[in-house]
Amino acid sequence: MDKLLPLDNLLQQARALDAGDPLAAERANFHMPQHPSRGGEALYFTGNSLGLQPRAAEHIIAEELEDWRKFGVEGHFKSRRPWVNYQDELTDGLALIAGARPLEVVAMNTLTVNLHLLLISFFRPSGNRTQLMIEAGAFPSDRYAALSQLQLHGLNPEDHLIEIAPRPGEHTLRTEDIEARIAQAGNRLACCALSGVQYYTGQLFDMARITAAAHKVGATCGFDLAHAAGNVPLKLHDWNVDFACWCGYKYLNGGPGCAAAAFVHERHARRPELLRLAGWWGHNADRRFKMEPDFDSMSGASGWQMSNAPVMNMAALYASLETFKRVGIVALREKSLALTAFLESGIHAVATDTGERLEILTPADPTARGCQLSVVAHGHGLELFKQLTDRGVIADWREPGVIRLAPVPLYNSFEDIAQFLLLLAEGLRTSS
Ligand SMILES: *Cc1c(COP(=O)(O)O)cnc(C)c1O
Repeated sequence: MDKLLPLDNLLQQARALDAGDPLAAERANFHMPQHPSRGGEALYFTGNSLGLQPRAAEHIIAEELEDWRKFGVEGHFKSRRPWVNYQDELTDGLALIAGARPLEVVAMNTLTVNLHLLLISFFRPSGNRTQLMIEAGAFPSDRYAALSQLQLHGLNPEDHLIEIAPRPGEHTLRTEDIEARIAQAGNRLACCALSGVQYYTGQLFDMARITAAAHKVGATCGFDLAHAAGNVPLKLHDWNVDFACWCGYKYLNGGPGCAAAAFVHERHARRPELLRLAGWWGHNADRRFKMEPDFDSMSGASGWQMSNAPVMNMAALYASLETFKRVGIVALREKSLALTAFLESGIHAVATDTGERLEILTPADPTARGCQLSVVAHGHGLELFKQLTDRGVIADWREPGVIRLAPVPLYNSFEDIAQFLLLLAEGLRTSS
């Protein structure tokens, strides 16, 4: 691809790329939001916040409603996807997304809840080993979770929370700096819990190296994969990650507030002594309805389940995961790399063309990012963003002035990006 795209033939280039895109037809399987100023489809770049609705979702939810109508409580066993094991319908898809064995994943609860449940098991401070590491500028919910977990153990954050920050003047973390900080904490580090893809900068962390560094000092290591799952290829099993969790509504297109997922490495699959907050859905599935008084944990991630599956909200995620299984992670990543590279070179071209300073906070190395680019338009504020919104661009604004753009390979086109870039160039010329 040319480094600089002349803006005048941007649309032609984009249309040629769409014509050669083997995944172009997938867009028709989603409901694209509409915007009046475009007389049709909006330019949607917030699949990193809420993925679009797969057309199949409505049908699957309707089937569950029908089975509920027909069977009442007997639907637990008689419905086409028996509700008693509904979470199991999602296992193959989640295992594919995570690069995990089926035993290692389960759909349950929501993301922050799962993070807490996993920290209960994998952040076990004892003796001098009391520290919990997160990244500085972590998603607030993750930081709140970390702080309250420390509180649960009577530990103050000043001494026991490590927040690893980029070097002065840099926006993203260097892997060698993370490794060095872990080594420095040494046997005081109990658990390292970073994100997989950082929500603000879009940086993809080297999870294999970070996990190895944590294990070397005897700490556990886990990741919040909210912005990684369905966005970048993951190999949690091979990377030896202890635990991970992610939501179903961002790149996984499961709908607002839908069920989340958890990963627990096979090494921990049969360790009933590992403390957990137990509930009946984590109990030996063959004996669950014997209503036994003592907890007998299921093997694997399933042993962390508490409650019976929220079928209606898992149904849309089920529909969506079928698409990931059909398309495959390799094809998705291939298109994703091309889409983001097109957006990146387009942003540079717009900067050159308009004489404005557009800074991309996300790493330029494609292996160190997912699809998202976080862009700062220096000298422009919320007015530029509002103008783009008025013209039908659905993107995300974060203080103090970052526009996050996530072109999603399942439903975004190269033309979406070209149309956005033309609006961006116009906006830069006309806004302050
Ligand atoms: C989206 C996101 C969340 C949201 O948490 P919920 O429990 O699903 O509301 C938490 N952490 C990260 C890193 C996220 O990206």
